[in-house]
Amino acid sequence: MSQNQLKELPSVSEVLLECDRYKSLNSKYLSYIIKTELEAYRRFAKKGTLKLKRPQITQNILSEIDRLTAPNMQSVINGTGIVLHTGLGRAPMKESIAKQVAKRVSGYTNLEFELLTGTRGQRQDHVNGLLSALTGAQSAMAVNNNAAAVLLALNELGEGKEVIVSRGQQVEIGGSFRIPNVIKKSGCILKEVGSTNRTHLKDYEKAVTQKTGMILWVHTSNYVVRGFTNEVSVADLVQLGKKKRIPVVADLGSGALVDLSKKGVPKDMLVQDVVKFGVGLVTFSGDKLLGGPQAGLIVGKKTLVNRLKKNPITRAVRCDKWSLAFLEESLRSFGDEGPSKDNLTIALMTASRKSLTKRGETILSHLPKKTVDKLGIFLVESEVEAGSGSLPEEKLESMAFQFKPKGMSASKLAAQFRTGETPVVGYIHGNTFYIDMKAVIPGQEKDLAGAISGINLKGLK
Ligand SMILES: *Cc1c(COP(=O)(O)O)cnc(C)c1O
Repeated sequence: MSQNQLKELPSVSEVLLECDRYKSLNSKYLSYIIKTELEAYRRFAKKGTLKLKRPQITQNILSEIDRLTAPNMQSVINGTGIVLHTGLGRAPMKESIAKQVAKRVSGYTNLEFELLTGTRGQRQDHVNGLLSALTGAQSAMAVNNNAAAVLLALNELGEGKEVIVSRGQQVEIGGSFRIPNVIKKSGCILKEVGSTNRTHLKDYEKAVTQKTGMILWVHTSNYVVRGFTNEVSVADLVQLGKKKRIPVVADLGSGALVDLSKKGVPKDMLVQDVVKFGVGLVTFSGDKLLGGPQAGLIVGKKTLVNRLKKNPITRAVRCDKWSLAFLEESLRSFGDEGPSKDNLTIALMTASRKSLTKRGETILSHLPKKTVDKLGIFLVESEVEAGSGSLPEEKLESMAFQFKPKGMSASKLAAQFRTGETPVVGYIHGNTFYIDMKAVIPGQEKDLAGAISGINLKGLK
């Protein structure tokens, strides 16, 4: 039996004969895919479980080549409601801005070149002025991400010395970014003070010795300690730092530049407020509440920023021309009247329930009645999180499509949406599938309606 099945396997060269349309592909990669596929079929054949005939096997291999050789990263409709979704690339940016940026930087650009003088320039100069002005800091710089910013600040100011941190701020951000580990890896000695729920100024004061390199204050951005608690403010730490002549660094995480509470987004600590306290350095992410590319922003005292710039780690974690150009664009979106419509992240975050309802209804009106009935679609009120650990306890008002099909499980429906022509990622809550409107980018309505209409209704009651 299995001998017969092995006979159904085409040879590599036989499949290659069908591969004319892949001429532009690297032929080694092509053969590699074919061999890998054939090996899998051979395993089935040996077990006697290969049900396919030779033409079908060849066809399947060709489909697999199609799938594997298309760009792997695709555009996805974010139906999770989470605007800052790390799995979906965090802060979205406007396509029109991406086009402008591509025009300026895809070729050559004045990344480190002074056009006026014809001399070597500094890549930090593209963001230093605007970032300093917006945050009220003396100086500013950008690195690869906030984790790198924290690592760099620790290494420069605290290497071989003690770094004082409250036990209530031993944050884990996700992945392997845990404050105690980062402190260790940056060559510093962790000096914990206080307890999980309460830390007092005198705890810090008592911990300061000759060995102290810096005090680190971490925004517990992704969780909340409630009840019998006490946290020492950055302002008080700055006073202590001044007295003892120790730099204070604040890792702010989400890095809000504007108060959006009037627009339904709860207020987070503002970067400029922390700068105003007189802190040495503040670090925050470029792709959280700022709405920019992945980056770590460092603002604060000029002497300290200059020291960081000279640290060898800076070179290892520097931003490329694309990040800097996108960062410049996101910073430019913050005018006197607050962030402009060009800041897509903030536009999504602040969209009202009313406007989401309107856009949701537009989508509904584009759907065939049969689809709406069979999938049991309703537009319902929802509440979502900002995501990426920003504003952890606060909910944002939104609207969502609820799906109650009779005869298909929520997970099957979710899988169909993920694997359709335009992938849509929704969420399942209490056995029901939802697509939230909060993070659906204006302009994606038609594609979303198309994706919903494209769901296979076979077998549904
Ligand atoms: C998100 C966050 C980080 C990590 O920032 P990335 O830009 O993702 O590297 C570090 N610290 C805090 C407090 C954060 O919220």
